[in-house]
Amino acid sequence: MLTLRLIFNLYTMKNLIYFPFLMLLFLGCKEDQKTSNSEQNVNLEATRNNDTTSKKINEFAIVIHGGAGTILKKNMSAEDEAAYKAKLEEAIKVGHEILKNGGTSLDAVEKTINVLENSPLFNAGKGAVFTHEGANEHDASIMDGETLNAGASAGTKTVKNPINLARAVMENSPHVMLSGEGAEQFAKEQGLELVDPSYFYTEKRFQSLQKVKAAEDSKTAIDKSAFYDPTIKDSKFGTVGCVALDKNGNLAGGTSTGGMTNKRWGRIGDAPIIGAGTYANNATCAVSSTGWGEYFIRAMVAYDISALMEYKGMSLQEAAKEVIQKKVPALGGDGGIIAVDKDGHMVMEFNTAGMYRASMDASGNLTIGIYKD
Ligand code: ASP
Repeated sequence: MLTLRLIFNLYTMKNLIYFPFLMLLFLGCKEDQKTSNSEQNVNLEATRNNDTTSKKINEFAIVIHGGAGTILKKNMSAEDEAAYKAKLEEAIKVGHEILKNGGTSLDAVEKTINVLENSPLFNAGKGAVFTHEGANEHDASIMDGETLNAGASAGTKTVKNPINLARAVMENSPHVMLSGEGAEQFAKEQGLELVDPSYFYTEKRFQSLQKVKAAEDSKTAIDKSAFYDPTIKDSKFGTVGCVALDKNGNLAGGTSTGGMTNKRWGRIGDAPIIGAGTYANNATCAVSSTGWGEYFIRAMVAYDISALMEYKGMSLQEAAKEVIQKKVPALGGDGGIIAVDKDGHMVMEFNTAGMYRASMDASGNLTIGIYKD
């Protein structure tokens, strides 16, 4: 306004000689205004972020998954369904109890995952799928949202509970990820429980490998990778994961898996990749992924959800939808995630027919799901 009045006054004084300078001054002011508008936008964004941060709906919370994939009711017996639900309930209650008693989210994540790893039902620990060569190779990771510290292990064959190894890597080594024989050596030095590889043999998983191999053999040389054929790759993925918020406001996430049936050449999936399979940050959320690992790595799924919250001010639900329903399918991948944010909102998002999952809030409300609806 001041600029306009000045122009007017000077005009009436017939000081036309100043006209070009005045125009420059006027345009300069417009530019300033533009800058301050965009500053305002940034501030609004920040306020929005702060707004979504201030409403705690759960003092503590826990969510778990037992894998996403082509899990259809018509293929599941009533006994199998009951067995999965019972194990999910048993596992989540272990973590919930820890959180209720003031324990850390890291302990809740680790101990909950141990229950799932010790069950033959899930593709992690005891129930791990078989590699092309008929072995079981485990990947796992864990992340502490308070410190952004993280640990992971890949391709181990004798560590009974890979999530414990991931935590030991995080807490007792200067590294983030160890693999293969070195990781096993470290596990031994840490006094973790080691088992003979035959411990991981389950008939069901072995038969899955035979089926996938037979399908692969029947394909042409050009189209040989059964691994990439969605119709014959394992009918479900089965990885396990847990995310938790504790009473101190600390988030943690962890994931453990045997990977994908018929994997070879030392293939490593998303589960041990921090940012893809697991991510936790007290400023945003904790996420654990399950699905077709190659796509989850390329989409950096777990970190992307956190980043959408941090930089775009999205809610956890909006961010999870964006990544799981849009970004991952756009690449050709499928799967899902579980997540909890710093205010205790819990999300279980997947684009497959089903995902074994459960959540429990601070009041002890338990939900268990397998199929889409
Ligand atoms: N994401 C895992 C992997 O690709 C598989 C799974 O989720 O079951 O190794």
